[in-house]
Amino acid sequence: MKLSRYWSDFLDLLFPRCCEACGKALVGTEETVCTSCRITLPRLSQDSIISTSVKSKFIGNPDVQDAFAFLVFTKKGKVQELLHALKYKGNQEVGRLLGLMYGQELIEQNQLPPADLIISVPLHPRRLKERGYNQSDAFAKGLSEATGIPWSGTVLIRTRYTRTQTGKSRVERYENMSGVFRVEQKEAVEGKKVILVDDVLTTGATLDACVEAMKGLNCTVYIMTIAAAQI
Ligand SMILES: [Zn+2]
Repeated sequence: MKLSRYWSDFLDLLFPRCCEACGKALVGTEETVCTSCRITLPRLSQDSIISTSVKSKFIGNPDVQDAFAFLVFTKKGKVQELLHALKYKGNQEVGRLLGLMYGQELIEQNQLPPADLIISVPLHPRRLKERGYNQSDAFAKGLSEATGIPWSGTVLIRTRYTRTQTGKSRVERYENMSGVFRVEQKEAVEGKKVILVDDVLTTGATLDACVEAMKGLNCTVYIMTIAAAQI
């Protein structure tokens, strides 16, 4: 045990591992994100204005029971660093870790929705091939590990390749996303309580399009994202 500890300290010296949020060297048993960042990452408080704004995005959608986000996204902040590592630096572990942390905190705070299944917003096969994995699957996996609720990344499929939403107006985003998703495994979600997960919540157009695809299947949907953008 002791020897392996020395060995890992030695490896840390040779190949410093860095926190994906703050860039400082990880020490001892720290993995992916340092202890200090794990404690201080900006949680989205349930009674904050941003939280109200997250929930209000889905108020017109009767199938959405509630909407949550784990962290607050700010430009150039630690959450942006983490999402960048998850989406563009190939670090799926970041997604899994955030899912684990969020799941544990929801349980501790008695806030975990009574869901049967966790499903992720799918990528188009072309984008999936480019990235090699779906970042929302990584988050779903961690959430599932922490909560014991099973997850699936194959219930929904994306039928159309959409260009980036950046720079589009709210209306354009909705038009761009309408009819993009299809439920591939109806029996998996019919009549179920489902947690639908995505990475960042901005307008909610992507998530709305997923819920639209589940229409008529009598699903109760809880939206859960890694982060929500500050308003
Ligand atoms: Zn850190």
